[in-house]
Amino acid sequence: MEKSPAVAYIPIQEGCNHCCTYCIVPYTRGRELSRPFKDILRDTEHAANTGAIETCFLGQNVNGYKYTDETTGKTHRLSDLIKETAKLSPIKRIRFTSSYPTEMTDDLIDMFRTEPKLLPFLNMPIQSGSQNVLTRMNRPYGLKLYIDIVDKLKSARPDIQISSDFIVGFPGETDSDFEQTMEIAKKIKYINSYSFKYSPRPHTAAALMKDQIPENIKTERLAKLDSYLNELQRSFNEACIGKTMECLCEGPDKTGKHLVYRTPYMQQCIVNVKSANCEKQLARIRITAANKASLRGEFIL
Ligand code: SF4
Repeated sequence: MEKSPAVAYIPIQEGCNHCCTYCIVPYTRGRELSRPFKDILRDTEHAANTGAIETCFLGQNVNGYKYTDETTGKTHRLSDLIKETAKLSPIKRIRFTSSYPTEMTDDLIDMFRTEPKLLPFLNMPIQSGSQNVLTRMNRPYGLKLYIDIVDKLKSARPDIQISSDFIVGFPGETDSDFEQTMEIAKKIKYINSYSFKYSPRPHTAAALMKDQIPENIKTERLAKLDSYLNELQRSFNEACIGKTMECLCEGPDKTGKHLVYRTPYMQQCIVNVKSANCEKQLARIRITAANKASLRGEFIL
């Protein structure tokens, strides 16, 4: 299915200053560069005037967005973009991806408390639950800091859910390091995550590290983590049965018999097309069934 025209994907920054030892972004995209605040607002307004209902701000390090206006001297952050975008009445939903944990500043966390248009869902990759591995990855946030940020987010918005990316089999990862990754997944209860086997990228520091992990161990660890993350996803989806959520229409499925919606948690929700409400792009849908991959629902008329 094509991307929904109701969602405006707006790049706000490029590049990354974090230099994780496995990542080629700092080499391919360079240092962080944030787009001018006014240009982004112009794009957002244009999108709102031409049918967008949802705005998704994009960037390799999206929550590191920082732009200082030369004329006024004022520095704008992602929280300022969210505030201004929320004033546009056609825009009903706002989200952003992908976030770096230490850039989740208090002003941004507070947006989840004060701005109802900001969806209660955040992708905040942790990559590993082991402090040793995080240090080798050059992701120097403490696990405590990450957990504190999640706690602050939950206190700002009790219904918020978090997703993450994971890398398993990073050079030097021991069984105990891997078990710590399983532990953090259990603690945070991520609802929807991406996990990958570490694979060396040319020109990166990690590619030259000793103690590369054998492929069969990476495969075993990935299977174990994936199986648990799938269980978490299924159990969150099943917990949604009986709830009513405001969902955004992405269009018909291949059969034309159903409409595909996105919940505020980015779950896919399939609804039978035979309904009086099916023209509405944003509809209240009661969830009637769920599996690991998607939900089924019916319109609340
Ligand atoms: S924060 Fe993300 S984009 Fe930046 S270097 Fe690390 S993995 Fe790459």
